Amino acid sequence: MDSVTQAALGATVAGLVAGKRCSPKVLLAGAALGTLPDLDVLIDYGDPVANTVNHRGFSHSLFVLPWVGALIAWCWWRWQRQWPLWQVMTLVIAVLVTHPLLDAMTVYGTKLFWPLEVPSVAVASLFIIDPLYTVPLLVALISALVWRHLGAKACGVGLMVSSLYLASSVYQLQQIKTRVAEQTQGTLLEGQPLIIMPTPFNTLLWRVVVSGEEQYWEGLASRLDANPSIDWVAQPLGEWPLANSDTLSALRTFSRNFIRFENRNGQQVVTDLRFGVAAYQPFQFLLAEQNTDGDWYPVSPKQLEPGPLPETALPALWQRLLGDQSIDAKLCRQSCQQTDPRWAEPISSAALPATASEKQ
Ligand SMILES: [Zn+2]
Repeated sequence: MDSVTQAALGATVAGLVAGKRCSPKVLLAGAALGTLPDLDVLIDYGDPVANTVNHRGFSHSLFVLPWVGALIAWCWWRWQRQWPLWQVMTLVIAVLVTHPLLDAMTVYGTKLFWPLEVPSVAVASLFIIDPLYTVPLLVALISALVWRHLGAKACGVGLMVSSLYLASSVYQLQQIKTRVAEQTQGTLLEGQPLIIMPTPFNTLLWRVVVSGEEQYWEGLASRLDANPSIDWVAQPLGEWPLANSDTLSALRTFSRNFIRFENRNGQQVVTDLRFGVAAYQPFQFLLAEQNTDGDWYPVSPKQLEPGPLPETALPALWQRLLGDQSIDAKLCRQSCQQTDPRWAEPISSAALPATASEKQ
């Protein structure tokens, strides 16, 4: 999650654990500790792909943070000795551990069990920035600063409200999962790898990406849709022109193999399909180039600018969220599809070809 949210979460958790000892200083310390795990972004792993795939690694591990927390708490207790050691320990460890647990609710993938070779955790029910999660925490903190005698209680209420929102996000995700399963049943999308994640800043409108052999399908589904049918836009997955490389393997693991390859005028661009909406995809990496003979050669990975978000995108996203099902996964209506040949016509769930087994 974003730094403001993590700082707010850290501060409210600290305020709650501090109880009667809650003070502006405690809240400030909690905010600082809450952002500590994300300092791993300062580590340079060598290139943008390595930096991306290694973020939320050891610094977000449930095997590492309790020990780091215990050490920080012990040092602080030795220096101040104003609080019982158990309370300082509980406060610091709780603040540090809640950070990766919240991160794990996003689609990015958090290595909660580093160094174990298990998949990173990505519940994908919360967008990386969601004001509805953050605002209750901020209101609680402002209340705790204004009415200091109620500090811990305000933090507790803020955490309860934001946690209820978190729980509701998981419920919304489950509802969308059920709808997608129903809509893809008996079609060629049934049983294919799929990923569902919220669109920016909300938990009502969801992006669904289904991966096939040569193409992938993308659809939008809002909890406010009147019609359960989902329109799918198909796009080519592309091909990697060289032998597999460590960089590509790392990117495949990181993205759970939801990646697309594109030859952009002799530049091979690999895009992580889990991030962004429509044509705005922020995780694009240049990994190979073509020489004048047409042969490909790997280049040092470079992250590409996703380009400006079209002016029409945010209003379209808002209208789609409200249930306007004439807007497709590219945030286009019919008119926009005709003017931009890059985007194929959307196809409704009912019009999808049947599975191979049904065709026989
Ligand atoms: Zn983090």
